Amino acid sequence: MQKRITAFRRLGQHHLEQLSEHFHVDYFPELDSADDPAFREALREAHGLIGASLRITPELLDDAPNLEAIASISVGVDNYPVDELTRRDILLCNTPDVLTETTADTGFSLIMASARRVVELADFVKRGDWTESVGPAQFGSDVHGKTLGMVGFGRIGAAVARRGALGFGMKVLYSNASPKPDLERELGAQRREFDELLAEADFVCVTVPLTAETTHLFGAEQFARMKSSAIFVNIARGQVVDEPALIDALETGEIRAAGLDVFAKEPLPADSPLPRMANVVALPHIGSATVETRDAMAQRAVDNILRALSGERPISLVNDEAWTSRQG
Ligand code: NAP
Repeated sequence: MQKRITAFRRLGQHHLEQLSEHFHVDYFPELDSADDPAFREALREAHGLIGASLRITPELLDDAPNLEAIASISVGVDNYPVDELTRRDILLCNTPDVLTETTADTGFSLIMASARRVVELADFVKRGDWTESVGPAQFGSDVHGKTLGMVGFGRIGAAVARRGALGFGMKVLYSNASPKPDLERELGAQRREFDELLAEADFVCVTVPLTAETTHLFGAEQFARMKSSAIFVNIARGQVVDEPALIDALETGEIRAAGLDVFAKEPLPADSPLPRMANVVALPHIGSATVETRDAMAQRAVDNILRALSGERPISLVNDEAWTSRQG
């Protein structure tokens, strides 16, 4: 019997054709919610699930008794109940590496845009307010030669730091679960306690995964520790930050500015003050959103699910235990 895949969002025609060569595919390109009845019906029969940006709950898994593998088109797996998937021997695959450099580009563009006030001053020109040479009221701050504090120093964190150290002569500090001696050698990076990094850095850039431990890692206390000239950049996940505390820190001048790709609630609610604040650059979660990288991510997810459903170890597997258990 041919295995079945339920696919949703972010797949191109060539990806679907590849999947269809091996499996029966039910595709939901515009899936709105996991409650969509046709999606739920397809899932009941599915051996594989592939897609992006959908919260998968244990209740949903109860309705998918044949599921063997999920291929997420993302590196972050905060939308998945990983332990529950492992308990059920369901493989969870993600897409690391292929999005690292693009997401680091987004991070660095937020560092630059926030420091040099690129969006605010481009709006100033668009409004027709550029009637004389700019003065101190429009001055930004330097990026080169400053201290970059990376909170999270994995693939993306290292790629942002590389841009800072090698391209902009920045001193790199990092706070991370484990030490990174190779990166210390490569970039001259220095490990700091979280609180020390906050006090020393001119730019604090967040690249930790969202976990129970990192939820609200940044709150009023952390913003209070930062320099009043500091710029906060978040390209990780919105829930790593207590957003009202960030808004407060930006409004009171406790920190100078923020560059944000991710938010507590996405899309940003219409009543959020963040996009209207002059010292905030807000992006619509575009970390990995380039033509090339989104295609590479979808392709990695396709490769993962093809392997997983053929009994081969997927390229990027999140829960090794489920693989071991399925082999046994
Ligand atoms: P990664 O290589 O796993 O790096 C994450 C780093 O965070 C690791 O070095 C890890 O330490 C560290 N870490 C984990 N928990 C920590 C904690 N409680 N305190 C301090 N450090 C901690 O992952 P990545 O590929 O760089 O991706 C990182 C995250 O970026 C993803 O999980 C995703 O949420 C986010 N992301 C966002 C976008 C976007 O569109 N904005 C795009 C891609 C990814 P160890 O090295 O010791 O394990």
